[in-house]
Amino acid sequence: MITIQNNDGDRRVLLLDSPFALDESPDFPEYLFDVVFIANESAEEAKTILNSINPVTSTKCCYKPLFVSSSLKGKMGNYGEIIDGYADDWNDMEVMTQIENIIAYNTQLGLNAQEDPILSSNQFFIRLTRFLISRRKTILEPKLDVSASTGYVIPVFDLFYRLGHYELSEYFVFMQSMTEKGLFRTSKFVNKVYLCPKCLHSHMLYIHSCPKCGQSSIKIEEVIHHFRCANVSPEHTYNFGGQLRCPKCHKILRHIGVDFDRPATVHTCNTCGNTFIEPKIKTICTSCHHQTSDADELIPQDFNIYEITSEGKQSIISPNIGFTIYTEFYDNYVEYNRFVNRIRLLAEQKFSGNIKGDLLVGKIWILNENEETMPIRPEGIELACLYFPSNKVSAANNITYVSSIIRNYTGDTEEGIINFQVMLSETIRATLPILNPGEKICTTYMKLQGNQSTIDDFIKEMDYVSSSPDDTVAYNPAMVGQKPELPRAHNV
Ligand SMILES: [Zn+2]
Ligand SMILES: [Zn+2]
Ligand SMILES: [Zn+2]
Repeated sequence: MITIQNNDGDRRVLLLDSPFALDESPDFPEYLFDVVFIANESAEEAKTILNSINPVTSTKCCYKPLFVSSSLKGKMGNYGEIIDGYADDWNDMEVMTQIENIIAYNTQLGLNAQEDPILSSNQFFIRLTRFLISRRKTILEPKLDVSASTGYVIPVFDLFYRLGHYELSEYFVFMQSMTEKGLFRTSKFVNKVYLCPKCLHSHMLYIHSCPKCGQSSIKIEEVIHHFRCANVSPEHTYNFGGQLRCPKCHKILRHIGVDFDRPATVHTCNTCGNTFIEPKIKTICTSCHHQTSDADELIPQDFNIYEITSEGKQSIISPNIGFTIYTEFYDNYVEYNRFVNRIRLLAEQKFSGNIKGDLLVGKIWILNENEETMPIRPEGIELACLYFPSNKVSAANNITYVSSIIRNYTGDTEEGIINFQVMLSETIRATLPILNPGEKICTTYMKLQGNQSTIDDFIKEMDYVSSSPDDTVAYNPAMVGQKPELPRAHNV
């Protein structure tokens, strides 16, 4: 059952009691409801519903107040992090006050329910951080959790990690990058933890092993120093039929401290007989089973309590956060003026004969139903960066740009140009899920021709889209909510 009902405060409550593909459904558009109520008494079923209908990843419920049945209080585990309250009556005074507070604060922040599907882990992190800001939870504190990937986890992040929204490496890069940019600050160091170099999980077994043969069957024994002849060797070498007798001078040992002492302990390998002072510590990851022969190979990782700074709050809420994030995460993204300078330089190099081949600039843009270009979407830039990892990518004038040099000393660049076109076509197809009804995405490429005097014209032409693109794909409702297909291994 799913319905929309008004509460006494005139807020429209979306009420549902079973899993429902809300984001994909054409019924119940985002603007028809303000609050979500999940009326289901089973914690497991409520969790299943929350996997898609939640104020973080859902395109229709983003940042909206969300309540579940009062009987589930204390039973929701980390899901509690995304639940605003437990109630059965949406006209309860406390519930109504809470709803009004959240809506008022979101309005003050300028956070509107967002309709874009999440296409990448970075977008996910931004959405989650926005949600946390909307709930005034600006302290991100890792907690110990025996079942969690890295031992220390921020519960609300871990909830979505388990749902597959990001990789651990992406998480660490995000945290570090936000801190470097001053959007987060470390308010307290918690601990340094050593992680598996392969999967970044923390649950390692630490095993003492023989430095010579690497086996771990090792006995520990004391070393005996015989004063009379200065012999020093492990205790077992003094054992003759239950008596302590020196293996070197064959005298019987009598009183510790008088004729002998035990200055140290040593390890002896049961496999190869090697005797050593310090065993080597090898590790086995209980998650991916990766073994290291030395604990030094583990990755040290600091866990901190982070605080979202006031500058961070502003930037993260801002719709432009995407662009700053991409320049940070993708080495191949460059600001447009740098991109243009680079094209000019390459063009000069080509015409002076230093570059053999063709210089191409690919363009991607989105048109609405009135054939007007639409502002660039960060997700589109991100996909271009992913599809062209060894090319430079930029964006301006409502256009995403990709540059390419098709090098060929024999002068035949046809195949390279075709590959470039194919990759542009694949990129616009991958970008389909971010289109809105009535929109279409287009691509074309420019090839530098002529001589030195045509460089300025070429650069001027980059500002404009083409009226006859090489390839166009239109909005397709079946693609809404789909994850974009990521590039196959290709080189252009
Ligand atoms: Zn050994
Ligand atoms: Zn001796
Ligand atoms: Zn591992």
